[in-house]
Amino acid sequence: MSLILVTNDDGIYSEGLRVLAEAMQQVGEVVVVAPDRERSAVSHALTMHRPLKVESLDHNRYTVNGTPTDCVVVAIGKLLSRKPSVLVSGINRGANLGDDIGYSGTVSAAIEGTLFGIPSLAISIPYEDSKQIHYSTAAHYTIKLVRRVLKEGLPPDTLLNVNVPNLPAQMVKGVVFTRQGKRTYENAIHETYDPWGRKHYWIGGGTPSWEDREDTDIVALMQGFVSITPLHLDMTNYEALSILKQRWREL
Ligand code: MN
Repeated sequence: MSLILVTNDDGIYSEGLRVLAEAMQQVGEVVVVAPDRERSAVSHALTMHRPLKVESLDHNRYTVNGTPTDCVVVAIGKLLSRKPSVLVSGINRGANLGDDIGYSGTVSAAIEGTLFGIPSLAISIPYEDSKQIHYSTAAHYTIKLVRRVLKEGLPPDTLLNVNVPNLPAQMVKGVVFTRQGKRTYENAIHETYDPWGRKHYWIGGGTPSWEDREDTDIVALMQGFVSITPLHLDMTNYEALSILKQRWREL
């Protein structure tokens, strides 16, 4: 039976994780290893300057007082009896699109899995505060996708960044394969004061805007499609590399 490692960055008690773990039971044996609290936007951080505590909550369900990357490292190195066939990170509350994927703990957990040679997927769904989140729609597509990945694998050093529209499943228009989009905002920074009158800055909020480029993750999602972007671990810009080699030689 396939072993499926499930993690996230919203924390062990988040609904998206619960729905994902439940859905993955239909596909294989599930082990959940997730942060003990929300660690969104921690990126690919690894905790090296303090020890990590693992708590076993119940059968095949663990929590770690660290980052999503810590969870993957400890799971593969210590907790699991064998290498997982697939790693799924999510279902994140909030889309992971375009330039924002660099901040994402959800995507970074999948990057870590890929570094270990495990086919890995990051699953996210956008939300607005007042609206219900259709996690079951994301679960529906994740089941299909994981089955396919188990059958066919993924190219080396490649993970899938999946964003599912926040719609009932029957309203989703289909699945499209996309490239990473480009954000154009204005990082929202709020000025605030502590009880002693000292000024602080709070990053967050604001409404991101995006370039309307064709074939991107953001455009697909806005149009009601599931967006699947294959991401590569090698960030080298090969075109720039060959230009630099030719023209900057005398440096
Ligand atoms: Mn998150």
